[in-house]
Amino acid sequence: MNIILLGPPGAGKGTQAKFLEDAHAIVQLSTGDMLRAAASSGSELGQQAKAVMDAGRLMPDNIMIQIISDRIGQPDCVNGFILDGFPRTTAQAEALENMLSDKGLKLDLVIEIAVDDEILVDRINTRVAQMPEAERRSDDNAETLRKRLGVYHEQTAPILPFYADRGMLKQVDGMLSIEEVTQQIEQLAAAV
Ligand code: AMP
Repeated sequence: MNIILLGPPGAGKGTQAKFLEDAHAIVQLSTGDMLRAAASSGSELGQQAKAVMDAGRLMPDNIMIQIISDRIGQPDCVNGFILDGFPRTTAQAEALENMLSDKGLKLDLVIEIAVDDEILVDRINTRVAQMPEAERRSDDNAETLRKRLGVYHEQTAPILPFYADRGMLKQVDGMLSIEEVTQQIEQLAAAV
């Protein structure tokens, strides 16, 4: 089963991807995690990614498309995958469509985890206040979140109609508890 989780930063895509991984023996492909791993390795790509992430902007489409294309071709993806953080622009969504069709693969489910901006800002303020400084992500603060939300509405939200037009988009209410969101997603997955 191949799934895309969409939604604003902080909506809980990563948390829900982990549940899907365990429940369906498919792999979470988080482009944010891949970029953070590159950033800690200090590679040239990692240095670029760190600067982009800290500014709340997006990495260039061609780099992200290449990363995902390579990753989807790896053997651990044979059962399927959950895309978490990709696609983030219409260009990425279009490239993904072509890439999957070239590989003879298809999407089974595109789920938007919908959460209001103000709730996300409240959540991040609570989380940052509770977290020891050493464990904080350098892009994890209310100021960067506001920039990332702006980028989400401008560049990522337009991919919702892209999938809606193809009759593929489902929505869950990301303002419910984690358990309730998981249940809603499981119902959608069971219907595939
Ligand atoms: P995330 O962990 O998904 O919130 O991603 C953290 C940061 O990595 C984002 O704010 C972007 O700067 C960058 N990033 C992750 N995925 C993508 C993508 N598909 N396209 C462009 N930039 C990305």
